[in-house]
Amino acid sequence: LPLTPVLLYLDDVSVSFDGFKAINGLSLAIEAGEMRAIIGPNGAGKTTMMDIITGKTRPDSGDVLFEGDMDLTQHDETEIAQAGIGRKFQKPTVFEDQTVRENIELALAGERSVFASLFYQESEADKARINALLDTVRLTHRASELAADLSHGQKQWLEIGMLLAQDPKLLLVDEPVAGMTDAETIETAKLLREIAKTRSVIVVEHDMGFIRDLDVKVTVLAEGSVLAEGSLDHVSAHPDVIESYLGR
Ligand code: ADP
Repeated sequence: LPLTPVLLYLDDVSVSFDGFKAINGLSLAIEAGEMRAIIGPNGAGKTTMMDIITGKTRPDSGDVLFEGDMDLTQHDETEIAQAGIGRKFQKPTVFEDQTVRENIELALAGERSVFASLFYQESEADKARINALLDTVRLTHRASELAADLSHGQKQWLEIGMLLAQDPKLLLVDEPVAGMTDAETIETAKLLREIAKTRSVIVVEHDMGFIRDLDVKVTVLAEGSVLAEGSLDHVSAHPDVIESYLGR
């Protein structure tokens, strides 16, 4: 085992759909405070891997350990979210008819009951927290505008801000820069690097320029298991990686 603390550990995980092994003996260790990029051809099992980590799909075999001893295969999606794993899906899902600030407020209020929310007064600490989150996701100047009026990229950032409001220990991010402008893509790499200073992040992406900007360890998935792991230059030079992308 590595010497740094492992936050998430997948050990020999497999799952089949109708006899087809979507995940096939997958092992993966994500350290506390690490950002990891996951790449791989379509059908490699990237989405299924995220589904397993977040409790949406239960593996047929293998262990998925969070913080050493929490076996995620024994918990449902809500429990896993509460344990500190946040997931950003590819499409932004913000409240379009609320302001940017209200979206963050709603995310922070997520844990309060509807009844408690009726009587809730925002404290100075909450305000400071909301301002800091808006700052982190580059949306302070748009705080009082409707989320509907944001660009696609800004909606992605807003949703990342909403997830950060839950203070996850691990954030899973699925193709964040798909559909973004070049400037937004560059900014998103910076944003994720900032976020990864205080938590672990797993990013699934196809955009190799973006992965290069992230400058993190890369895991290449193919046919449901790890094909190669290391720096982008290291995995790009791997003959099996070239084969799995360009071959067939
Ligand atoms: P990726 O995200 O890397 O493109 P997926 O995890 O979506 O790969 O899919 C891996 C394989 O598992 C694909 O062949 C896909 O068709 C299959 N698969 C994924 N989910 C299901 C499901 N719920 N039922 C049947 N097959 C599935």
